[in-house]
Amino acid sequence: MQSAADLLKQRIRTVPDWPRPGVQFRDITPILHDPASFRLLVQTLVVHYMTHDIDVVAGIDARGFILGGVVAHELNRGFVPIRKKGKLPFATVSEDYALEYGSATVEVHTDAAKAGDRVLLIDDLIATGGTLIAACKLIERLGATVVEAAAIVDLPALGGSARLRDAGIDLFTLLSFDGH
Ligand code: AMP
Repeated sequence: MQSAADLLKQRIRTVPDWPRPGVQFRDITPILHDPASFRLLVQTLVVHYMTHDIDVVAGIDARGFILGGVVAHELNRGFVPIRKKGKLPFATVSEDYALEYGSATVEVHTDAAKAGDRVLLIDDLIATGGTLIAACKLIERLGATVVEAAAIVDLPALGGSARLRDAGIDLFTLLSFDGH
């Protein structure tokens, strides 16, 4: 019998040279499009997290919103968005991080979590880990704690998951691809 990870991996579409030459883009939208795969994905995360002590689910712009929103709903917890700069209307805290070329900024509302809250972070993929590390810093600046960071895909060759674990962040990833 195939594992959930194998079934989900078969649904990921690899788009070569997008958005730049040399990048193998791992497109998770076929999982979302297929009802059985989407349910399998959500249920795998919900079964894992139903025994964790979580106050808030935070999803990262933009595919982390789709998954994080459903997981929060299923766990009967609130959802908060971590967005790219300039998109959130209320008071925010910001964190800059380096990209391969240039830099990026993520933001969260100042009332997205309160001191002592236990936060589950969700994104679709870990590459260099920069986005999730910046998201963790945002949550910690609110005085809250990151319980675990979850992603569908890990690209271990890019070093992000090792970097996150070295920073003391527990990870839950469902499948990985060799190379980048
Ligand atoms: P990083 O901060 O380097 O870990 O990059 C992770 C973020 O960039 C996630 O939000 C992903 O959606 C996106 N990303 C980076 N590389 C890829 C890739 N090869 N395929 C799909 N998404 C990617």
